[in-house]
Amino acid sequence: MPAPTPSVSLPRVRFAPSPTGFLHVGSARTFIFNWLYARHHHGTMVLRLDDTDVERNTDASVQSIFEGLRWLGLDWDEEYKQSERLALHRQQAEAIFAKGLAYRDFTPAHVGDDNQTGAQGAASREGAWLFNPGMRDLSRDESDRRAGAGEPFALRYRVPRGQGRTLQFDDAVYGLQTKAADEVEDFALLRSDGLPTYHLASCVDDADLRISRIIRGQDHLTNTFKHLLIFEGLGVRPPEFAHLPLLVAPDGAKLSKRKHGPVVSVTTYRDAGFLPRAFINFLCLLGWSPKNDREFMALDELIELFSLEGVNRANAVVNFSPDDPFDAKAVWLNAEHIRALPVDELARQLEPVFERAGFSATPEKVAAVTPLIRERIKLLREAVSAADFFFVAELAPYDAAELIPQKGDAVLAARVLEKTEQMLASTSFDHDSLDHALRAAASELGLKTGQAFQPIRVAVCGRKNAPPLFATMAVLGRAVCLERIRQAEAKVQSLASAKPSA
Ligand code: GLU
Repeated sequence: MPAPTPSVSLPRVRFAPSPTGFLHVGSARTFIFNWLYARHHHGTMVLRLDDTDVERNTDASVQSIFEGLRWLGLDWDEEYKQSERLALHRQQAEAIFAKGLAYRDFTPAHVGDDNQTGAQGAASREGAWLFNPGMRDLSRDESDRRAGAGEPFALRYRVPRGQGRTLQFDDAVYGLQTKAADEVEDFALLRSDGLPTYHLASCVDDADLRISRIIRGQDHLTNTFKHLLIFEGLGVRPPEFAHLPLLVAPDGAKLSKRKHGPVVSVTTYRDAGFLPRAFINFLCLLGWSPKNDREFMALDELIELFSLEGVNRANAVVNFSPDDPFDAKAVWLNAEHIRALPVDELARQLEPVFERAGFSATPEKVAAVTPLIRERIKLLREAVSAADFFFVAELAPYDAAELIPQKGDAVLAARVLEKTEQMLASTSFDHDSLDHALRAAASELGLKTGQAFQPIRVAVCGRKNAPPLFATMAVLGRAVCLERIRQAEAKVQSLASAKPSA
């Protein structure tokens, strides 16, 4: 096994998901922090699928992890699957055994177990399972004889006992961590089916892949003491460690799919219309802040500013509620990133959103509509309701009363619409000509533009709150505008005849 990379060389980090579910937002953050660290230091980003747990892994999960990562749009430099490296794991377990640093445990209740915690008739200290002296002290001859006879066993690490040893590492986030070796149980390296445990496979691969820095969730902090022992058993220097604070719900509970539902899955953010860059920006602020306390950051700024010193120890709260599934900061950042995106790029992102809504949205039409709505949406999916009137053949029914201008009545609305119809028949349909023609119409009617434009806006868009009028009409085109204005005229006429104005 090669020696680990000396600290002067460029760092190698890894993201090591277990494919037992969808891509969790916490895992995405772990990926991103590793990635930023690698890119900041010009190091190497490794993706390693921790897929040795055959009972819990699923192909669907592997797909979902890749789908989530592809959406984030961040790359990696090397890719491995632990299930293709089992021979190495076993070989290294045997090497540790050969050094006398591991022993076979034939206790039926222990065989196949990964993490032993409960007291199961073995030696215990204050109830915690530490080791089984009967197995730990079995002679090598006896152990070989029972193994030779085909008796199943788990292979356990022989944790140093009674020597007063302290295990310690300096975590880049949580500082110096220490634990007495006497308090660490004799954890399993191999299960009775010959498969490696997470601890063994992870350390063997971290050493073999020359991972120089492990950046992972704080829930692995205590595992690290076991890992120090495995690295020692492998005869390599352990990597550096940085553990990340947990992501928690507003009530402080660890984010979990079972408890919190879809807000925990990366694809929920994708489907709601977050831009990957905005989502990355949001995740970075969960447990990290740059020295200058900036919040809105483009990807290159994140790479430049990222450092482990800026990672906090306190758990990071993701705010959501049943009515409001997304953290307000995430939504705000998304709106900022939408505005920062070049308009043609935003248009490309909106095309599939409109397609999914069933609009016949040609790239040209989307390109024309995008600048008109980009200030009006916070999530991409909001573009559907902000721009539907550009795409539908028939406006959704609206209340005719909306057509009536302030301080006016149905008769006035009808006059405005009639006049507009006449003007539009001969006007060129570009922004400036429309601007000129409609202002002239307002002044001929002796109205302020605000008053005159309301019926027109409602007639062509079906609502008062809509993008700038002339540009909107230019995109809609003459035929559509005239048709909608005629329909609006019919509506106000029926209103006027139902309620004659005094
Ligand atoms: N497969 C482990 C997990 O998903 C990796 C932990 C680690 O980074 O060592 O939690």
